[in-house]
Amino acid sequence: MIKLDILLRAQPGPGWLALCIALIAGVAVIDYANGYELSVSILYLAPVFLSAWIFGRQAGVVMSIIAAVFWLLSVLFMNDVYVNPLIHVWDALILFFTLAIFAVIISMLKTALGHADERFVTVLEGLDAAVYVADEEGELLYANEPYRREFGDPGVPLRPPYPGKEGEVHDARRERWYFVQSRAIRWVDGRLVQLHLATDITGQKKMEERSRQQQERLQMTAQLITVGEMASTLAHELNQPLAAIANYNMGCVRRLRSGAWNAGELLAALEKSGKQAERAGRILQRARDLVSRREPRFAACDLNEVIAEVAAMTAIEAEKNSVRVVTDLAAGLPPVRADTVMIEQVVFNLVRNAVEAMRETAPGDRRLVIRTSAGTADTVEVAVADRGHGINPRIEENLFTLFFTTKPRGLGLGLHICRSIIEAHAGRLWFSRDPSGGSIFHFSLPIAPA
Ligand code: ADP
Repeated sequence: MIKLDILLRAQPGPGWLALCIALIAGVAVIDYANGYELSVSILYLAPVFLSAWIFGRQAGVVMSIIAAVFWLLSVLFMNDVYVNPLIHVWDALILFFTLAIFAVIISMLKTALGHADERFVTVLEGLDAAVYVADEEGELLYANEPYRREFGDPGVPLRPPYPGKEGEVHDARRERWYFVQSRAIRWVDGRLVQLHLATDITGQKKMEERSRQQQERLQMTAQLITVGEMASTLAHELNQPLAAIANYNMGCVRRLRSGAWNAGELLAALEKSGKQAERAGRILQRARDLVSRREPRFAACDLNEVIAEVAAMTAIEAEKNSVRVVTDLAAGLPPVRADTVMIEQVVFNLVRNAVEAMRETAPGDRRLVIRTSAGTADTVEVAVADRGHGINPRIEENLFTLFFTTKPRGLGLGLHICRSIIEAHAGRLWFSRDPSGGSIFHFSLPIAPA
């Protein structure tokens, strides 16, 4: 096996040439010692094979000529010619042609083998994945082009997490993830080695991570929204029992102070007060249940309807602020895949921000446009444009950061929540500047599957 390997890798050189010539000379000597025995000349096949294999067809043919001449000389030197010397020349010619045909066949065989090898290497080099072979000590025996490109030539071979198994490996130096598969193969020299195939899965990993983060943000968003809604509802609902409790308390205090009281009346008032406290507790409990349960419910939804709904909901608020709300809704838009309540929340937030941005705008110019349009081939777009103070480039970067606000009583939740909601819908939220003053907030949502 090892000798074959030497032959496969042999490069033309003076060493091989010397060996071929020595072999020819050796055979010639044996030939001479044996008389003109044609059978010994079979041994000339060895140098002819070597020269044809290593140096090519022409060298093989030249070697055949030399062999035939040697043989002829050895016969003629015997000097006991009892037949016509022309017969020996004829024999020498036959010997030459036999050896030359052998040389041609050998060189053709080598070319064919080379082609097969080339095809194999072309396939391996053309792969996207890094393919490499390493021995037990971790020495690299073969590496294809993608491997050399990724890891540099000598490189430390990546190994799967468990020997002989496949798995994901993080390469800390390159900050990339690879899926590595391995199996044991027998190498050309007979050793058992490991063939590895490493596919770069960094992109896929990033996407997984992004979608996990989005999912998390969505979860948080859903809770924040509910908390926001809940806060105002709670304040409203709790007000009643708390006021009632305060009332019953005051009544008791008054009676006790005046001295004109009876136990029955006090007991009844305290019992009622207790009931109200229980009611307040139930309200809180219900709120808690709601917060932990709200999840997005995706369905096909008409964005124009959502906009119309929000415009109606905010009409009073807009009017109070002297803002004229204009809706510019494209006809024939396809439905989008969305949770209507969440998208309403987004538009509601953008409208509220737009109204607040126009506090300093002259009342006659306070115009708010909500526009829908076909986005790219598979999205629908919404734009909310105002004539407000616009966005200072210095705060642009922080706009969507949680708790970032420039308003004295702002919470900095709105835009962050809006973006989380839109991203959770696989959409995009961004803003641009209106050349005539003010800002435009845009978002796009994917069209609902048919
Ligand atoms: P908040 O409204 O509580 O401040 P947001 O996250 O909704 O929180 O907004 C963050 C900041 O973005 C605002 O404080 C404001 O500076 C800026 N902003 C948002 N919408 C607009 C707009 N339409 N025009 C100008 N600035 C805006």
